[in-house]
Parts: sequence; C-alpha cells; structure tokens
Amino acid sequence: MNQQTLSMRLERVAAHVPAGARLADIGSDHGYLPVALMRRGAIATAVAGEVALTPFHAAERTVRESSLEQRITVRLADGLAAIEAADRITAISICGMGGETIRDILDSGKAHLSGQERLILQPNGGEQPLRQWLMENDYRILCEELLRENRFDYEIIVAERAGPVTYSAEELYFGPLQMQARSPAFLAKWQRLLRVKHKTLAHFAKARQAVPEDKVEDVARQARWITELLA
Ligand code: SAM
Repeated sequence: MNQQTLSMRLERVAAHVPAGARLADIGSDHGYLPVALMRRGAIATAVAGEVALTPFHAAERTVRESSLEQRITVRLADGLAAIEAADRITAISICGMGGETIRDILDSGKAHLSGQERLILQPNGGEQPLRQWLMENDYRILCEELLRENRFDYEIIVAERAGPVTYSAEELYFGPLQMQARSPAFLAKWQRLLRVKHKTLAHFAKARQAVPEDKVEDVARQARWITELLA
C-alpha cells in the first residue's frame, strides 16, 4: 500500500468519500487515503490528523513527496481536534481502529462536528457500540459494507446526521442494512462467528471456575441471535 495503490479496505473507504469533498482523515497514519484521493482529483482539500509523532511525520513525508502541501494539511492532534472551523470539512474518515476508539473520538470531539459532514468509519471490531453512538447522536446509517482482506473481516459504516433514528438491539449488533442485504460475505462472517461463540460457550461449561452468569448469558444471547439470523 502507498499513496497511489491503496489496500482494498481503504479503496472501499475511498469509494464512499463524496466527489469534491473537503476531507478530514483522522488517524491518518501515512496519510495514504487523503493523498491517493487528492492525486486522483477526487477531493478538494484535506486535513490529515494524527495523535502520534511517528505517523504524523510519516504523513508529512507522504504529502511532501507528492507536493501536496498546499492542498493537504497535516496536524498533530487528538481526534477531531485536528479539525478547525475554517477547514469547512464535509467528510470525515476514521479508519483502522477499534469501534470503541472511533466512538470515543467522535464523542469527545462533538464540538468540532457541524452536523453536515458525512462520516465514513471503518472499525476493526466494536461495531455495535459505534452504531449505538451513531443512533444516540441522530446519525442515520446510509451504507454498510463488509469485506474480507488478509483473513480479516472489515466493516465500513457511512452515516450522516439526519434527525432521530431507532435501531433494534439486533440491528445495532449486525448492522441494519447488512441484515437486510444478507450478502454472502456477511453470512460467511456470521457463520464463522457462530462457531466461535459455540466454542466459547463450551469453554465456559468446562471451566474450573464458574463463569459469571451474565457473561454466559451474553454469549448465549449472541449465539441465539446469530442462529436466528442464519436460519
Ligand atoms: N487510518 C489508517 C488506515 O486505516 O490504514 C491508519 C490506521 S492505524 C492502525 C491507526 C492510526 O490512528 C494510528 O496511526 C494512530 O496513531 C491513530 N490514532 C489513534 N487514536 C487517535 C486519536 N485519538 N487521534 C488521532 N489519531 C489517532
């Protein structure tokens, strides 16, 4: 992966960035996503935010080597603090982190959100708490994608603030649109996860020390939901 050739995962994220967007890529690491989009003429301007020094310098280097310093600003900042009102950001990508981390970045950075931005989120696990945050903050899920690369399942969630929206507990767990679409990748993922849940329950049953009742019930409920989904 580099500033020209993105991983399939980031390529799919890129596909959800509206043409001509003013993008903030938070946790940009090498800055590959904004640089690739800018080189393709797909976005108008970008901010690459990084909280850690090494990736911040890596992003600066990628931007410099592509001579894009006038179009992409690299900022050392925690989460959405990388965004300034004058940036007039229209899309925010936060990718390659746990769903809880993405949720925390959105929650602690609310003051930097105008409510007009499209969110393009690619959590590595923790999708349920992230969807919960979106629902509680009036974000409607417009699109969901699931892809498998290097034996990992990656989800992409695209959302916009659109007023109150209600998702059921199962929709928050599986993804409301994925539940409807039932793509082969989605069904394969949950078949794999059902095996994992059954193994976990078998371990619990054999464990020398009693596993707390609520923990067993939680995994059993997930196994039940997955079984119903696949039925
Ligand atoms: N977004 C890139 C991608 O999807 O390929 C890089 C993902 S990398 C695994 C996660 C990056 O997020 C790291 O470079 C890390 O320093 C950065 N990060 C984690 N928490 C952050 C925060 N609160 N604010 C900004 N960057 C953060």
